[in-house]
Amino acid sequence: MNKDTFYKLKENFKNRNIDAEYFETLEDIKLYILSLVPPNCKVGIGHSATLQEMNITNLLIERGNTVYDKELAESKEEAKVIKKKALLTDWYITGSNAVTVDGRIINVDHSGNRVAAITFGPDNVIIVAGINKVADTVEEGIKRVKNIACPLNAKCAGYNPPCVELNKCVDCVSDERVCNVLSIIEGQSDRNRIKLCIVNEEYGL
Ligand code: SF4
Repeated sequence: MNKDTFYKLKENFKNRNIDAEYFETLEDIKLYILSLVPPNCKVGIGHSATLQEMNITNLLIERGNTVYDKELAESKEEAKVIKKKALLTDWYITGSNAVTVDGRIINVDHSGNRVAAITFGPDNVIIVAGINKVADTVEEGIKRVKNIACPLNAKCAGYNPPCVELNKCVDCVSDERVCNVLSIIEGQSDRNRIKLCIVNEEYGL
């Protein structure tokens, strides 16, 4: 993504009360997050390969934050409790499946905890996305998520909906379906509650 495209994206998000910032590396975003999030507050983490790469959960815990990240759970039941606690944190940090140049944030979820927290609950939300997640339109973004991200994510998580074998979405109603919730954030009533961090590298699916 060139700078002109980013400025267009930033302006479109600004018009929707969402702050978009551009970073050259994930390390830069890590430092930005650590400077922005107070060390004594509660932080929820939405599952994201990009955040795991950044090791942000451990860094926040080490400096004193209380962090609710389902990856720290030792059982499914504990993961569910953590996901619920993350809905009422001060800051929520997660990735995204797609963001569009015209200013939308697109996510699909298996259980819906991540899109719930992005939508309402935490007063501050940070979303990290690699340039590979930027799409021109909502239609293009959803197509990419369903046909590329969902099959790969399903396989990684041990689910087997039809897209895993077909490498394309057939809008299944399988018990193994991984995209039970589709969310499109089109704007915010609280200005800059959501901060979108775009990194000039490819991360995640
Ligand atoms: S609807 Fe089914 S086939 Fe389509 S992406 Fe979701 S899980 Fe895969």
